[in-house]
Amino acid sequence: MKSIKLELDLIPMEQWLPGFERPLLIAGPCSAESEEQLLRTARGIRSYFNRFIFRAGLWKPRTRPGTFEGVGVIGLDWMKRVKEETGALLTTEVAMPMHVEKALKAGIDLLWIGARTTVNPFSVQELAEALRGTDVPVLVKNPAYPDLQLWIGALERINRAGVRKLATIHRGFHSYQVTAYRNQPQWDFALELKTMIPGIPLICDPSHICGNTRLTFHVAQRAMDLHYDGLMIETHHDPLRALSDARQQVTPERLYEIVSQLVIRRPLTDDGQSRLKELRGAINEVDDELVEQLARRMQLSRQIGEWKKENHVVVFQRKRWEEILNRVQHLAEQLDLNKEFIKKIYELIHEESIRTQEQVMNQPEQVKV
Ligand code: PEP
Ligand code: MN
Repeated sequence: MKSIKLELDLIPMEQWLPGFERPLLIAGPCSAESEEQLLRTARGIRSYFNRFIFRAGLWKPRTRPGTFEGVGVIGLDWMKRVKEETGALLTTEVAMPMHVEKALKAGIDLLWIGARTTVNPFSVQELAEALRGTDVPVLVKNPAYPDLQLWIGALERINRAGVRKLATIHRGFHSYQVTAYRNQPQWDFALELKTMIPGIPLICDPSHICGNTRLTFHVAQRAMDLHYDGLMIETHHDPLRALSDARQQVTPERLYEIVSQLVIRRPLTDDGQSRLKELRGAINEVDDELVEQLARRMQLSRQIGEWKKENHVVVFQRKRWEEILNRVQHLAEQLDLNKEFIKKIYELIHEESIRTQEQVMNQPEQVKV
C-alpha cells in the first residue's frame, strides 16, 4: 500500500514537553479510586522516577451499568494533591465536553481521548469544539476496532480545532480471534499512521494491549525497537484489588523493573552498520511474530483438546496429521522453502500439540455444583 502524507499543523513534542526524553513515561492507575490510592501509587512511582506523567481515569462508564463507574470530579482534587506532592504532570481521559471543562479548570496538564470515543466521529467533533481555543496537549488513543481511518479522522478533527500539541497512544485493537493479547497490537497500523503523519509522537500502552502483566515488558520493548516516543503503563499500589483492569496493572516496583530493563536503541545512523542493524531489526520482528503465532496455534490446539475430551475422541488423529503435513509442505515448496526443514519444524509443533491436548485430557473434571 502506498502511504499518502497528511499535513497536520503540529508543534514538535520537545517544544511543549520541556525536558522530554525517550521513553516518555505515563504511569498511574486505570481509575482513581480514592485519594489514598492515588497518593500511595504516585509516591511509589515517584520513589523510582524523577520525571513522569501521572494518569488516572475519573469517568469510567463500563460495558454494563451498575458496576464501578469512576469517581468523577471529586478525583480532580485528589490529582491536584498528587501534583503538589510529586511534581508530576497530570493526565486524564475526556469523553464529553463537560470533562474537558472540568479537567482544564482543575489544572490537568494533558488530556487523552479513549478508544471507545475515537470510534465515534460525533463525540470526537464535540470534543474538538470544546478544545477550540485552549492550549492543552491532547493524546488520541487508537479506536477500539481496527480502522486506521477513524484514528486519522480523530486526529484531523482535533487538529482542525486548533490543537497543535497532539500525540497518539497505541493501545491495540479488538479482535474476535483467540490471541495472547487482550487487544491485538497490529503494529503495522501504528507504523502506517506514523508514515502518513511523520511529525506525530507515538506512545504505546502495553497494559491495554496485553490485558495481563506477563507480556508488558515484551510489548514495551517492541515499541522501543520501533522507535516509539513513550509508554503509558497502568500502575497501582495494589493491582489485584483495583476496581478496574486489575489483571493488567503493575506495581510501582514492577514498573521500575520494566522500564529499567528496556534496551533503548537510537534511530539508525549512517555509520556503515546501519543496514545490518535494519536487517536485524526486521529479523527480530519476524521472530516475535513467529512466536506469537505459535502461541496462538497452541491455544487453538488446546481448544481442540477440550472438544475431543468432551466428545470422547482420541488425541492423535493420523489422517489429520498427514493432511497438515501435506498442506504446509506444499506451501513451503511454493515459497521456495526446503520441504524437509518445514517437516522437522512441524514434527516438533505436532509433538507439542499432542502434549498440550494430553494435558487437557488428563485434567480432572470440574465438579459441577
Ligand atoms: C484506560 O486507559 O484506562 C482506558 C479506558 O483505555 P482505552 O480507552 O484504551 O480502553
Ligand atoms: Mn484501563
